[in-house]
Amino acid sequence: MEIAVIAHDGKKAEMVQFLMDHKTIFLQKNIHLIATGTTGKKAINSGFKVTQFLSGPLGGDAQIAGRVAEGKTNMVFFFRDPLAKHPHEPDISMLMRLCDVHNVPLATNPATAELLVKSL
Ligand code: PGA
Repeated sequence: MEIAVIAHDGKKAEMVQFLMDHKTIFLQKNIHLIATGTTGKKAINSGFKVTQFLSGPLGGDAQIAGRVAEGKTNMVFFFRDPLAKHPHEPDISMLMRLCDVHNVPLATNPATAELLVKSL
């Protein structure tokens, strides 16, 4: 099962905390974590094995959106910062839209992520 993790700068600490809180689940052999560049780096530094894509503003969200469209990514944890402006807003919208198009579970905040992780 492929799971994508992405966090905007203001939410990266929460994402690392979330991953650490569920480390045993995310370290399961059948879970393949992928991430945008900087989020992935932080997860790797916290002991996770992660396939890194480009940083979000450079196209990482778009790359992950492509994987969602291709049926490769099965779940997305995307901690967005609603109080910040993002130069790659079109890519962010595209990723969320494609999750809806392909009925891929998408958690955009830790509370929803907690509920999704219980399903793993
Ligand atoms: P980042 O990208 O993990 O490379 O910071 C996340 C984003 O801004 O979408």
